[in-house]
Amino acid sequence: MKPGLLQIGGFPPEVQSQIDAAFSRVHLADVERDPSCAGEIRAIVTRSNLEVPAALVERLPKLEIIATNGVGYDLIPLALAARRGIVVTNTPDVLNAAVAELCIGSLLALLRQLPQADRYVREGRWRNANFPLTTSLAGKQVGIVGLGRIGKDIARRLEPFGVTLAYHGRSDQQLAWRFEPDLVVLARDAEILIVAAPGGRETARMISAPVLDALGPDGYLVNVARGSLVDQEALLAALRDRRIAGAALDVFDNEPDIDARFFGLENVLLMPHIGSATQETRAAMAQLMLDNLRSWFASGRVLTPVK
Ligand code: NAP
Repeated sequence: MKPGLLQIGGFPPEVQSQIDAAFSRVHLADVERDPSCAGEIRAIVTRSNLEVPAALVERLPKLEIIATNGVGYDLIPLALAARRGIVVTNTPDVLNAAVAELCIGSLLALLRQLPQADRYVREGRWRNANFPLTTSLAGKQVGIVGLGRIGKDIARRLEPFGVTLAYHGRSDQQLAWRFEPDLVVLARDAEILIVAAPGGRETARMISAPVLDALGPDGYLVNVARGSLVDQEALLAALRDRRIAGAALDVFDNEPDIDARFFGLENVLLMPHIGSATQETRAAMAQLMLDNLRSWFASGRVLTPVK
């Protein structure tokens, strides 16, 4: 008999067919309709931008593993899982390149105003005047908040642009780049602040009004981590009042129904949470999620546990 699996969210057909070949799949609505099926569920598959409610986990007495398709696990009740001995897996590393590419691509688009330049040409304004001068990446001071797998990949890819790098985290990793224990000081020294730390309670709103004020009117913010790390009210006010120069944002509070005040701001580049959204990367993530599940049910071990 196939093990019971609860699926949160949807997957592409090629992933779905592999899930369905190995598991007896139900959805949340099935559990709501027929609570008796909760007793058979041994695995949950989900995506890292969807919540796994603690109340749901409490209702699944035979749950052994939660496998998320993504690296973030801020929406999974980890403490409850640990108490119950439920294994949690994610898909680290395979998405580093895609997220780093989006970070650097959006940073360049922000500094060089590429969306505005494209509109400028399409609207026929080039005939009347040259596009205003923008600002270079070369020579800038860059601060990275959260120098983990993705943060390091971003740093390595940024070096050839001729920037100076520093980073903030909970520990000095003894690297060639300067460690700055004080986030406000990192922001004050930086002209570009990149956020790549995990979401969750510990990092909530760490990009606060004082951090944005320290970044200052010539400073740019790039967030490819989670919306929860940024004080969004403070960010909206800083962008509106030009107390920071601009922001490139892939993540927000309340996705996808983001605060409509962003739409009226010219100095922000908005992206629909697409850090890992390339065909190659999503395929690699799904493969790792499936490999974790298969390995668990074959051997009781997983490849990439969340520790
Ligand atoms: P990681 O390897 O765990 O790195 C996270 C880094 O953040 C670590 O270097 C850690 O350093 C630092 N950190 C942790 N807690 C911190 C705190 N309280 N204050 C400051 N720094 C802290 O994770 P990753 O694989 O690089 O992924 C990072 C995050 O990117 C994920 O959690 C996810 O939310 C986000 N992400 C977004 C997308 C997207 O589509 N936009 C895609 C993938 C991932 P210390 O231990 O030294 O503090």
